[in-house]
Amino acid sequence: MQNLYDVIIIGAGPAGLAAGLYASRAKMKTLILEKNKVGGQIVTTNEVANYPGSVHEATGPTLIARMVEQAEEFGAERKKDTIVDVDFTEKIKVVKGEKEEYKAKAVIIATGATPRPIGCPGEKELTGKGVSYCATCDADFFTELEVFVIGGGDSAVEEAMYLTKFARKVTIVHRRDELRAAKSIQEKAFKNEKLNFMWDTVVEELKGDGILETIVFKNKKTGEINEYHADEEDGTFGVFPFIGFIPFSEVFKGKIELDQGGYIPTDADMKTNVEGVFAAGDIRVKSLRQVVTATADGAIAAVTAEKYIENNFEE
Ligand code: NAP
Repeated sequence: MQNLYDVIIIGAGPAGLAAGLYASRAKMKTLILEKNKVGGQIVTTNEVANYPGSVHEATGPTLIARMVEQAEEFGAERKKDTIVDVDFTEKIKVVKGEKEEYKAKAVIIATGATPRPIGCPGEKELTGKGVSYCATCDADFFTELEVFVIGGGDSAVEEAMYLTKFARKVTIVHRRDELRAAKSIQEKAFKNEKLNFMWDTVVEELKGDGILETIVFKNKKTGEINEYHADEEDGTFGVFPFIGFIPFSEVFKGKIELDQGGYIPTDADMKTNVEGVFAAGDIRVKSLRQVVTATADGAIAAVTAEKYIENNFEE
């Protein structure tokens, strides 16, 4: 069959690139598909201090650049295409992109997840102009300014504490009157003097002319609407939504098993409920979504795919 790959990897974040490295190193004909640019969420991270060994100048982009180089060195092919459909019903899997149709003996899904937006008016327009989804990338821009962090989970509270190192004042805006974050994280947060809390509150709108100037709050219990305007001298302030993530799994709905949140359940070998289809990285149902766990998943998925092909396809 023309253009039949051994493995197609969908997604070129740390999980996909690690899978690509392991698969191509095992001499499998490997294709890595990515819809925009390589890297996934990690390319928006300035500092990667918790990936073992990445101590010198380790930024998201430099780490990813090295991962790409390594995967390509072993012969992994890369293509830019957006996947619009898949057919996993036959032994040969079909992956349909906007540009081309691809076929493979095995597929590794490593599409990852993206931060959940608030969904209020003004959010899209003001992203990068006061609204940010990455504290490690953008905290510095808010040095001595005021910042609002939206959400009450581990991410919101941890990132809010990080932001207190830069901002003049940080306020956590949470839709309930109790945090979801782990008790140990809460304890630290309540001791932090720069951290404030706005309970039972949601964001209704973000306003500004080219830069964030006003945030409109609604108290969920009283219905009261409040506006915060940027301090005149500051001219702006920051809003960091940390209200969870949305997995990129829409295209796989009805094709493989997904959990209620849209994540893909796998076993410890990264097998999904469909033979020959594996998942790795943030798209999986898992408890720790980090680069180190994503790359580990990628390696396991590639090795499992290799064994699957060996056992199910004759040379
Ligand atoms: P999360 O645990 O799902 O928390 C999301 C938070 O946002 C919740 O407080 C939720 O409110 C709120 N929220 C959700 N949708 C909202 C909306 N539309 N408007 C306003 N608020 C909304 O997400 P996460 O904090 O990103 O954590 C994701 C996973 O990673 C979790 O399993 C977490 O434990 C883990 N994690 C662990 C660590 C760590 O261990 N150090 C650090 C970061 C993340 P409700 O509480 O009312 O639902």
